[in-house]
Amino acid sequence: MTQADVLILGGGLVGATLGTALAAHGLTAIIVDPADPAVTLAAGFDGRASAVASASHRMLDAIGVGQALARQGCAIRHIRVSDGLAPGKLDFIPDDNDGALGTMYENKLLRRVLYEAATTAAGVDLRMKTRADTVVRDAAGVRASLSDGSVVSAPLLIAAEGRNSPTREAAGITVARWQYDHAAIIGAFHHARSHENVAYEIFYSAGPFALLPLPDDAIGHRSAIVWTVKAADAAGMLKLGDRGFLAEAEKRMGGFLGALSHASPRASYPLGFHHAAHITGERLALVGDAAHGIHPIAGQGLNLGFRDVATLVEVLVEGKRLGLDLGDAQLLKRYERWRGLDTFMTAAATDTLTRLFGVPGRTASAVRRFGISTVDRIAPLKGRFMSEARGESGDLPKLLQGMTA
Ligand SMILES: Cc1cc2nc3c(=O)[nH]c(=O)nc-3n(C[C@H](O)[C@H](O)[C@H](O)COP(=O)(O)OP(=O)(O)OC[C@H]3O[C@@H](n4cnc5c(N)ncnc54)[C@H](O)[C@@H]3O)c2cc1C
Repeated sequence: MTQADVLILGGGLVGATLGTALAAHGLTAIIVDPADPAVTLAAGFDGRASAVASASHRMLDAIGVGQALARQGCAIRHIRVSDGLAPGKLDFIPDDNDGALGTMYENKLLRRVLYEAATTAAGVDLRMKTRADTVVRDAAGVRASLSDGSVVSAPLLIAAEGRNSPTREAAGITVARWQYDHAAIIGAFHHARSHENVAYEIFYSAGPFALLPLPDDAIGHRSAIVWTVKAADAAGMLKLGDRGFLAEAEKRMGGFLGALSHASPRASYPLGFHHAAHITGERLALVGDAAHGIHPIAGQGLNLGFRDVATLVEVLVEGKRLGLDLGDAQLLKRYERWRGLDTFMTAAATDTLTRLFGVPGRTASAVRRFGISTVDRIAPLKGRFMSEARGESGDLPKLLQGMTA
């Protein structure tokens, strides 16, 4: 394919989903990514697990990706928030007929399934190990010379290149950004007792310790962790042997899942916040981490990217039906306006939470515990938080309701 409805730079989790979702609506996409799938799909490349909110999952089902994930995730049926191991907790438990709050998947599974979906979709031309050497965006359209020697064109360029998006920089889009003094140590381990589909967020002043349920395997019960530590402590944490690491984790958990064993390899991620002032430009739209990046405290980063996908697909599908130029400025404005409030509110709430729980001292902890028990007693407020966790608040595009656009 040398011409398509869109040219997507970046075939990661968000870019691959976008191409597949557009193809499910009869649109075409050329996706260009310099990464080598032999590296990015290898078992040890990304040891993270992601909470896919229930609304995001409805989109994956609607575009035909959900089937390949079936029975390989672990439903989150209960979220428990606490300030350290002190008494006072906040439990989010949906009514039985409301279904799960989200599903945990290992990233290596998500990567493989989305890569295969993009590779096999009839309307997607996925070119891995390829980069765009030059890209021109002007009134006539978008043209790019690729490192494989070809020249491709489309009416719209979409940047899905992750947090350091060179396209966003080249377009001169201002980005608000700061680093937290935090790094996330990620990994997984087994534990003697079942997690019973509960996700735990245990807040310490050094940072939250999140324990996220995974499906049992041949060894037994298993959870993933996102353990936020001071940035300066991350290297030391990675050097700990398995025994030392599990002993430290057990201390943070107070032993409520029983003895820990079989620690997986660990990795550390520096944590920062960034938010692009605009997510569109001339014949340009940003999606996923190219547009925004937040602390993983609430497991919402990828879900924000999925919501960008659902919204942009709906805007483009309607534009195509009306016979509009897909790079039309009014179409892109519609995408920007639709996404603006959700991304800003999620980013602001996540940043506030990170700072609020980072205040050290007993008084701050007492105030937090008071807040936690108060929210725990107010049903409508809890309902609101749960619909946020599910990704169901606001004006939902059709894909997030499980329908094609
Ligand atoms: C520790 C941790 C835990 C997390 N947990 C969760 C969670 O539970 N739930 C959740 O929703 N989110 C979570 N997130 C956030 C989530 O991982 C990201 O939001 C998500 O991976 C972003 O996907 P993306 O496709 O936008 O970007 P990326 O995954 O960064 O992909 C970008 C792609 O673009 C390619 N690329 C780079 N440069 C170029 C270029 N010049 N041209 C073309 N292609 C290029 C790269 O090769 C890559 O394939 C977590 C993040 C961290 C750090």
